[in-house]
Amino acid sequence: MSKKVVLFGSTGSIGTSALDVISRQDKHLRAWGLSANTNWRLLAEQAERFKPEFISISDDDAVRKYRREYPESAGLLVSQAEFRSRAVEEADIGLVAVVGAAGLEPSLAVAGSGKRLALANKESLVMAGGLVMAAAEKSGCQIIPVDSEHSALFQALEGGRRAEVSRILITASGGPFLDRPATQMEHVTLEEALSHPTWSMGKKITIDSATMVNKAFEVIEARWLFDMPPDRISVVIHPESIIHSLVEFRDRSVLAQMSMPDMRLPIQYALTYPERLESTVKALDLAGIGGLTFRAPDPEKFPCLAVGFAVAREGGTLGAVFNAANEVAVDAFMKGRLPFGGIHRVISQTIDKHDNRQAGTLDDILEADRWARTEAQKCL
Ligand code: NDP
Repeated sequence: MSKKVVLFGSTGSIGTSALDVISRQDKHLRAWGLSANTNWRLLAEQAERFKPEFISISDDDAVRKYRREYPESAGLLVSQAEFRSRAVEEADIGLVAVVGAAGLEPSLAVAGSGKRLALANKESLVMAGGLVMAAAEKSGCQIIPVDSEHSALFQALEGGRRAEVSRILITASGGPFLDRPATQMEHVTLEEALSHPTWSMGKKITIDSATMVNKAFEVIEARWLFDMPPDRISVVIHPESIIHSLVEFRDRSVLAQMSMPDMRLPIQYALTYPERLESTVKALDLAGIGGLTFRAPDPEKFPCLAVGFAVAREGGTLGAVFNAANEVAVDAFMKGRLPFGGIHRVISQTIDKHDNRQAGTLDDILEADRWARTEAQKCL
């Protein structure tokens, strides 16, 4: 019987790739619910093609436009709250592919449901890893990471016992500025920052990759997903993006997961795990690639990476503050109100002002998120 998948954020880069996977695996997977923020036209096309049971649109203006254009499909469109509750009641898998802090509530809802959470939205773990993991543990929810690095770690970890793991190594492409001197980073343009050399992704994560905030987030994500102390997590630059991450065991054996860089692979794995199904991802041609290279990240050029390790070590409400300050700074950079180099300054100034607290409840997280957005705005 096919698994019912609810996609939170079906119109984005991950969402559309996930629908591509579902369309090719239609004996195994069915799109049960689809949601978008503003892109109601694409959502309507997806609904026409995939025939979900319900859809949802977050943006009020987009809801009005959708209703005007499709008066006959009013029964299909449900509120965000109903979308969440039907997702956790009816679906087998919730894929959270919303970008940013808006992914937290869907992640928490699926984590608390005992169903599978296919998690792309890394911001949920950065903001509230403790809460998401505790909710999943209590409900019996299985979290399968969609992020390629964490999917790689998840797969490599199957090669040994947890107590035998000595450390994990997260690979990073290094983004578009890998070979640019640190002194020339301040005023790189939006267009340059959006030209990722190996991955095609949504805009926000592409900017996060250029600053390496994305890698900082992945360190925090790994800390929560695999219960790994930050001092046993390393980051290594691997510009070819063929090795997606590695696990070192105590006998010094290292297991890596490799493939061509294509998000449809980790998405499919998260949806069909433990099965491995055929895929359309290009086969790896190592001789054609010729060489795999590695280097250490330059801390001067990518200062946000160290912030990620510090946040992973300290925990509390700092993750929510890091995420919120980054969202404000990235938005300002994309609107031309902040130079690229300002992203790190806004993040570090906001973090420096924060009085870190225990993040015991969702309210603690949301309060820290609100506080950090206001403070980060002041730094612009
Ligand atoms: P995109 O920007 O391409 O897509 C984001 C999706 O979220 C869209 O469907 C968008 O709707 C929806 N959305 C945005 N804001 C809201 C909101 N406030 N409420 C509800 N829905 C919203 O992002 P990506 O697909 O690139 O990334 C999604 C997540 O996955 C991110 O957290 C990212 O870090 C993570 N990720 C992405 C990877 C990638 O390859 N793209 C790789 C690994 C992780 P609309 O289209 O209407 O705006």
